[in-house]
Amino acid sequence: MRPMISGLLDLVVPSVCVRCDADGSALCRTCVDELDRSGLVRRGTAGGTAVFSAWRWEDAASVMQAYKAGQTPCARALGDALHRAVDAVVAEARERGDIGAEQIALVPIPSSARSYRRRGFHPVELMAKRGGMPVVPVLRHTRRVADQRGLGRRDRAANMAGAFALRGVLRPGCPVILIDDVVTTGATLDAAATTLRASGARVLGAATAVSADRDDTPANDR
Ligand SMILES: [Zn+2]
Repeated sequence: MRPMISGLLDLVVPSVCVRCDADGSALCRTCVDELDRSGLVRRGTAGGTAVFSAWRWEDAASVMQAYKAGQTPCARALGDALHRAVDAVVAEARERGDIGAEQIALVPIPSSARSYRRRGFHPVELMAKRGGMPVVPVLRHTRRVADQRGLGRRDRAANMAGAFALRGVLRPGCPVILIDDVVTTGATLDAAATTLRASGARVLGAATAVSADRDDTPANDR
């Protein structure tokens, strides 16, 4: 008897672009080109950390929301975008003469335990992996932080202050680049940079896939 091989194909969920609904892949080439068109964004946080981001929130919101809701195939395109942002941080640090040929640690902003239980994956670590970048996940949350949505710049900084600790030891003077999915006010990156600097690490800057300049960006849940 012939096995019903053809029937199996019906079980495969078709791949549709999360941004424009085109058939083919989780994020189509046309959308990636549109996202890339705006070019890298460079911003400085209140704490003095330079942040490079590949895409803008107004273009990439649907992608980030779909990804964090479980559309993990988007990790590849997001990882490639994040990789370009990391490269820009490295290039700037080289220009400043801050680094030579030494190894740089990419430290991801961690998900909260609660978010990890809900999603089943770490959004930042997964996109880094798909983008071909090994990470050093040394940060952990020290406590539960309030949802950043609806908080202003100052409240976000207070909410995140002391929110991270190290769960490992970095070599003294180790050059570090922080990576995250979205930067909004930079309060999270500043809190993480403070923790890393206190341990003796040299924070060269931060890289994110997406940059949002509005305080009410709804993606900054941990
Ligand atoms: Zn598309």
